[in-house]
Amino acid sequence: MAKSIMQTQRECYVCRMKYNVITVTGLEEHHVLNGPLRPVAEQYGLKVWLCHRHHNEPGYSAHFDHHLRLYLKKQAQRDFESVYDHRTWMQVVGKDYLKCST
Ligand SMILES: [Zn+2]
Ligand SMILES: [Zn+2]
Repeated sequence: MAKSIMQTQRECYVCRMKYNVITVTGLEEHHVLNGPLRPVAEQYGLKVWLCHRHHNEPGYSAHFDHHLRLYLKKQAQRDFESVYDHRTWMQVVGKDYLKCST
């Protein structure tokens, strides 16, 4: 299993980035790319720790909120491109999330 390139601390990514709150209990691992791209997320460490509420509860969570899901994908692409580059992202993932507005 590759280590996440998106965070170094084991804490809820959304609690930290959106609310500046440190949540370290009840964490679940979320693969930012899913479906056929899940192995890519695993290989390149495009995954984050999320508290259950921000992971998989109806409302503002990665599995229910389209905007939050896209936010995480944009963050993943930024982090990936800072390690590799945009060309490699397009080769591996094939979609430019930073150009998506919805
Ligand atoms: Zn959280
Ligand atoms: Zn998940």
